[in-house]
Amino acid sequence: MEVKKKDIRALTKAQLRNFFIKQGDKAFRGNQVYEWLWQKSAHSFEDMTNISLDTREMLKAHFVINHIKVDQMQRSADGTIKNAVRLHDDLIVESVLIPTPNRTTACVSSQVGCSLDCRFCATARLKRMRNLNPDEIYDQVVAIDNESRLYFNRPLSNIVFMGMGEPLMNYNNVLKAIDKITSPEGLGMSPKRIVVSTSGVPKMIKKLADDEVKFKLAVSLHSALDEVRTSIMPFNATFPLKDLREALQYWYAKTKNRITYEYVVWEGINDKRKDVDALVAFCKFAPSKVNLIEYNPIDDGEFQQADNKALDMYINILEANNITVTVRRSRGKDIDAACGQLANKT
Ligand code: SF4
Repeated sequence: MEVKKKDIRALTKAQLRNFFIKQGDKAFRGNQVYEWLWQKSAHSFEDMTNISLDTREMLKAHFVINHIKVDQMQRSADGTIKNAVRLHDDLIVESVLIPTPNRTTACVSSQVGCSLDCRFCATARLKRMRNLNPDEIYDQVVAIDNESRLYFNRPLSNIVFMGMGEPLMNYNNVLKAIDKITSPEGLGMSPKRIVVSTSGVPKMIKKLADDEVKFKLAVSLHSALDEVRTSIMPFNATFPLKDLREALQYWYAKTKNRITYEYVVWEGINDKRKDVDALVAFCKFAPSKVNLIEYNPIDDGEFQQADNKALDMYINILEANNITVTVRRSRGKDIDAACGQLANKT
């Protein structure tokens, strides 16, 4: 019977060093292989040119490297790049490179499909099939870093966990991936350049605070009124705003980090004065920023972006209450790479 080989990247550095000791080799060999796996992002054992052929063969007999493959890369007229990423079990996720004059941002996926059910989101139509492993998240970032160097002559500068999936529903793997991304033995990026965006899982937000994470937190809020939020994000019935707010207060008390709210204003859904007042009341307790995001319809037009009058009302009232507001134009619409559009249509 064929024995299923283990993915070598599931091993910690200490485990890899121990493996080599058990093989009668030096622990140091584990450091060399670890460097190939993470810092140099080797796709195969053959790439490890300073490791002897015999050792590479021995590694091949024990392990596999389940590296992702970028199956298809689409480039938008505005420079945005969308990668369709094939995983070792042939499932596909998507990640996006968003260029602006001063930065390159990677928007990465954390799950195949999503277990939540936001009604405006294309990913929600895919059932959650599985969580991504830390290496599969890391590989998406490396692929985008390479593309940034190739097409924009600069390294990746920022990462947002806003692709497919709810990152806090894959908590351990997302945190392990961020550890690798920020470690000098990985990509060495500053955690301050990473934003984890959640639709609001209160228990896990508190856990982030307890775990003293250094990255930033964003919440896809979209409404601060329970009845409205539940109608567009049905899981809000399980995690109501009262619990979300309490978790965010806990986060702020522990981290003193500003909270960013992602917010789309839809016609006839949350475009009234009462919606803005509720938003102000919800986020006033701590320094906050509201990102008003342009929406990209995903189908029959049930959700339509509100007009500029409604957006201006939001901007004026938020600013009058000392809440920072930005309006984020959507990118990569022509290749279905914009927020809420990721659904493996390639
Ligand atoms: S918006 Fe995010 S949390 Fe909601 S269904 Fe889509 S991927 Fe999942």
